[in-house]
Amino acid sequence: MQPLKDEVPSADNVLFVFYDFETSQDTKISETTKLHVPILVCLQQFCTAGEIQDDYEQDCARCGKRRHSFFEDPVGDLLSYLCEPRPWCKKVVAIAHNAKAFDLQFILNRAISLKWTPELILNGLKIV
Ligand SMILES: [Zn+2]
Repeated sequence: MQPLKDEVPSADNVLFVFYDFETSQDTKISETTKLHVPILVCLQQFCTAGEIQDDYEQDCARCGKRRHSFFEDPVGDLLSYLCEPRPWCKKVVAIAHNAKAFDLQFILNRAISLKWTPELILNGLKIV
């Protein structure tokens, strides 16, 4: 077993994406329960190259446009965007506004229907 290194991992080749789903609740599934259907996802991204740019309103020189929104197929379009090839990028870290209770469920449902096998970090039965 290798000893742990006392250093912070480099984030030089990482794209960080923060996303938030908005949903409609027009579909009743019982007398007291309504189905949340994603109708919009908004995301904001950054990389270490963008941190050193003075004007944050300008596109990042490396990862481009900093804000995106998808509304035709919010879940599918978000996953497609996250999986786009980026020559400079080795890893995409997607962080949901409310993953534990809400936003991650849409991603997991789609991943299962696509027969992906996501790796989850669990704390008991809760997804961290
Ligand atoms: Zn960037």
